[in-house]
Amino acid sequence: SDELAALVSAEAGDRAAEWDLAGAIPPDVLRGLGAKGALCAEVPAEYGGRGLTGRANGALTAHAGALCSSLRSVMTSQGMAAWTIQRFGTRRQRTEELTRLTSGGLAAVAFSEPQAGSDLSAIATTIVDDGDEVVLNGHKVWSTAAAYADVVIVFGRYQDGAAAVVVPTDAPGVTVRPVAQPLGCRAAGHADVDLDDVRLPAGRVLSGASQSPGLLTTIALTYGRLSVAWGCVGIIRGCLRAAATHARHREQFGKPLAQHQLVARHLSELLVAEQTATRVCEHASDCWDSGSPELSGAAVLAKHVSAGRAAHAAATAVQVLASAGSVDGEPVARAYRDAKLMQIIEGSDEICQLILAERALEGVA
Ligand code: FAD
Repeated sequence: SDELAALVSAEAGDRAAEWDLAGAIPPDVLRGLGAKGALCAEVPAEYGGRGLTGRANGALTAHAGALCSSLRSVMTSQGMAAWTIQRFGTRRQRTEELTRLTSGGLAAVAFSEPQAGSDLSAIATTIVDDGDEVVLNGHKVWSTAAAYADVVIVFGRYQDGAAAVVVPTDAPGVTVRPVAQPLGCRAAGHADVDLDDVRLPAGRVLSGASQSPGLLTTIALTYGRLSVAWGCVGIIRGCLRAAATHARHREQFGKPLAQHQLVARHLSELLVAEQTATRVCEHASDCWDSGSPELSGAAVLAKHVSAGRAAHAAATAVQVLASAGSVDGEPVARAYRDAKLMQIIEGSDEICQLILAERALEGVA
């Protein structure tokens, strides 16, 4: 994974501000990273992937998150798509679709709809059998990386449950409409996806069978939550580094900012955030790697803690840099916008809290 981290550094190094201002990452950068397996590095080698452990993939995700949350968001989507295919695909689907994602093909994941945000039981997209084909109709919103994607994993109602379908974005009836000027992660390629009588071979339904909607979304989201959580660790590390560097060198009242106790407290809070978020993410990744039944709860905890700490850390870093951090293009200004969105996606703060409250009540008479 050191090699992949170096690759991500070489591509994203000092270009994140430029991509953020332009609202796009050059597709050849994404395809180049994808072709080296860096966008979904957990995919096993038999499908052309790097076969990283959850822990190693987490470290890579944090590395990307410290450099560019938009790129990290694309990695999260690609990884979530790959994981969904790996978990629910037949051997043939895994071979075809995962190999595509490790050789430069790009993917997005689409759950959300205008009436189905936090409440995914309200998904209205339909997947209907028609001979040896399926027909999809629906509207998906805010699908990260869909503006770049060759395929979107679309979740919808199917038979008496739910299914995920691998939908090529160039299929007739698919319209991808980029979200204009998002608050943060501006180069992540968020887009709405309209599905209008999209007719596909039935072999594009993952596993070919209807699944329990709850299981389907929880399994996909668990990957996403872990990935976002590690991305937040990256945001916090970037903010800690920027704030500490500034506080050491900038002088006011005759001494470096770091020697003013109230500024020193900000630095200590950033360090606590970095350590706390790292530990909960490590725990969740260890659960992933050991196949622990605690995984889904640990992923929710990691996402909730890391996103909250990242949002606070970014605000703190802007406070320490003050005017120097108050300009578009400054890493801490970008982190401030990006981190806020992490409290909304993959289960908002409130939804995470509801899940954690259920855990708190477990075993209590
Ligand atoms: P709502 O569900 O309307 O919620 C509004 C507010 O009410 C929130 O604060 C929420 O926490 C709170 N709330 C809702 N229900 C409850 C409750 N029962 N109890 C307490 N509080 C509650 N979707 C995809 O499918 N794929 C993607 O790749 C994707 N990427 C995204 C990237 C970004 C940057 C953003 C902003 C969104 C993305 N989304 C994506 C959509 C995202 O999953 C939803 O925005 C999220 O689920 C929240 O839904 P909503 O925005 O409709 O808010």
